[in-house]
Amino acid sequence: MIGRLPGRLVLLGHPVSHSLSPVFQNAALRHAGIPLTYELLDVEPSALAETLRMLREARAAGNVTIPHKSALYSACDVLTPVAARVGAVNTFWVDNRGALTGDNTDVDGVDALADVIGVRRQACVVACLGSGGAAAALCAAVERWPGTIVRLAGRSPARTRALAERFGDRVQLAESAGAAARGANLVVNATPIGMCDSALPLAIAALPRDADVMDLVYRAGETLWVREARAAGHRAADGCEMLLRQGAVAFERWFHQTPDVHVMRQALQRAAVG
Ligand code: NAP
Repeated sequence: MIGRLPGRLVLLGHPVSHSLSPVFQNAALRHAGIPLTYELLDVEPSALAETLRMLREARAAGNVTIPHKSALYSACDVLTPVAARVGAVNTFWVDNRGALTGDNTDVDGVDALADVIGVRRQACVVACLGSGGAAAALCAAVERWPGTIVRLAGRSPARTRALAERFGDRVQLAESAGAAARGANLVVNATPIGMCDSALPLAIAALPRDADVMDLVYRAGETLWVREARAAGHRAADGCEMLLRQGAVAFERWFHQTPDVHVMRQALQRAAVG
């Protein structure tokens, strides 16, 4: 818990220049009258330990993105139960005793994105393409959805198996993305495919007719996969709502107050439309 304002507020990643987080976090900070600026901090993995030492001293708080989420998980003195479950940290702060504390607000982001699409968060089969940090957040979210299982299709067999084993029988291995999607109620892209190109994580023809489509990737004008899935009659959304929710929950952790989500959404929409 933070008893006073953090010394700095940063996004740690490499690269980070593409991030839309400053757009809506700074809008929320201004609206709340908090005299801090959310800064981008591009840190190479080799410089992470030294950067964390400096951030501890500054009693900084912030977010973490690729490729540092697992490293922060290992570096934190205290983890929230959800960060421990996911095995990755996307939000941190230094508490009153100087302990570096890690949380994972991507899990709440997954729920918010599912709600925007209208996903029935119970008794369903979820196909997950990818087995990295975002897939782990999806598994942790779906664990809270009654009677729901995840079918996991990853590129690296060892990483995919390790993730499935961590979540027990609620997460099953699939042989391919197509096999995972067969008969699924919800198909989720948790790979970076489509972030910088027009590749599709799964052919639209391979989606079950009534399946909802959730792309954790976000980009200006939505991803091609989301646009094509919607054109084919699926309910679909990209990762914008997840980004917004994980940021709003992080703001609550840092400042113990609810940000104005309307202000954040407007700022994000203005930036994401262009
Ligand atoms: P990550 O930990 O690096 O995992 C990426 C996963 O995708 C791994 O399973 C990786 O396989 C797989 N992959 C990468 N390139 C692939 C390809 N060309 N074909 C097939 N599989 C591929 O990354 P992450 O943190 O999970 O993030 C994944 C995506 O979700 C990113 O685009 C990120 O921006 C997005 N994301 C969005 C939000 C949001 O708020 N909307 C939050 C978190 C993440 P290997 O293990 O073989 O490398």
